This record gives sequence, structure tokens and C-alpha cells, in this order.
Amino acid sequence: MNLHGIVVAAGRGERFGGPKATVLLGGVPLWKRAVDALVVGGARTVVVVGEVPGGIPGGLRRRDSVAAGLAALPAGATHVLIHDAARPLATVPLVRVVVERLAAGDVDGVIPGLPVGDTLKRVDGERVVTTVSRQGVIAVQTPQGFEIEALRAAHAADHDEATDDAQLVERNGGRVVYVPGESTNLKITYPEDLAVAEAWLR
Ligand code: C5P
Repeated sequence: MNLHGIVVAAGRGERFGGPKATVLLGGVPLWKRAVDALVVGGARTVVVVGEVPGGIPGGLRRRDSVAAGLAALPAGATHVLIHDAARPLATVPLVRVVVERLAAGDVDGVIPGLPVGDTLKRVDGERVVTTVSRQGVIAVQTPQGFEIEALRAAHAADHDEATDDAQLVERNGGRVVYVPGESTNLKITYPEDLAVAEAWLR
């Protein structure tokens, strides 16, 4: 495998109250933690997308920022890890689990996921319409690993919104599998998430 990484660190961070990739966690910026996990986990190089030192400009939507990263990868890359700067606590062992499953060569994508603990409801305004079964449902994390041509083809095939890259590969008929994620691999979305991450780090 000629494995490289993309860390997406752009976007307005509306729910956070501002761009969050440069915020410090334990004295280290979120984006840097994400990069380090990919490098130690086996990525030869990492492209960072966003307004961070050495970063390239991002796009309007997350998928546009990933596309910018894909265009900037070195020639010869065969596989890519896509990771959110907003997930600074993903561990090196998790990265390695994703990479090892990808290395088996029989899949287009590998994503970390965990069973959902809460009961799920579909709602319409304040009205509860129905309960959604948790059976066979996982909550998905990053880093996500892909065979690069499958991901490039998926990006070219449609231009609809996608909250992760696996969604694009699935929609394009690709084979995506999951490996166990980490309960500590939380996504920094709201300011209070940062306080939780700080506490866990300590
Ligand atoms: O906004 P949200 O927290 O869902 O973003 C997930 C990740 O995608 C973050 O790391 C964020 O920096 C990145 N992103 C991006 N470009 C966008 C939107 C989000 O790189 N336009």
C-alpha cells in the first residue's frame, strides 16, 4: 500500500462558535493531533485542508474540502485515510486497525463505528413519529480508509451532500466495511465537547 492521509480542518465551525481546528487540546492544536495519529499510524504524507500552518484551502462543504485534499495527494498514492481535525482523540491503534483491514485488499472502504447506546426516534417538529430500531445501527467515526480510485470515482459520480466519505462510496456501489471504533474518539462539535476531551486527556 502507498498510504497517505487527508485531515479536513476547514469549515466555519458554526455550532462550535468559530473555526475549531486551531483550538488547543492539552497544548496541541486539534488539527496537529489528527495529523500525528495518521503519520504514526502509517501514512507516508498528510495533506491538511484548512487555515492552519501548511494547510491548503478548503471548500464550502466537508466533501469539497476532501476533494481539495484528494487533488493535492502525491502521485502514486494507492490508499488514503480521511480524518476530521475535529476528532483529536483517535488513537494510533485505531488507525492501525483501519489500515490493516484495508490492507486485506477485498474492500473499497473501512470505517470505525460503534453500536448506538441511545434509543432512536424519528420526529416531525416536536411530534415523535416512530422509534427507529437500533438493531444493526452504528455511529460512525473517522479516520476512514479507502482504496483511492474507489474514492475518486465516488466523488466524481455525484455531487450531493455527504457527511462522510463512506457515504459517497456506498452510493457508488462500493464495498465498505466497519471495524470497532473507540468510545473516547469523540467529535468536537460544541464548546462543551472540548471540556470533555480535556478531562479524558488528563
Ligand atoms: O462541521 P463538522 O464538525 O461536522 O466538520 C467535520 C470535519 O470536517 C471538521 O474537522 C471540519 O474542520 C471539516 N470540514 C471541512 N470543510 C468544511 C466543513 C467541515 O474541512 N466545509
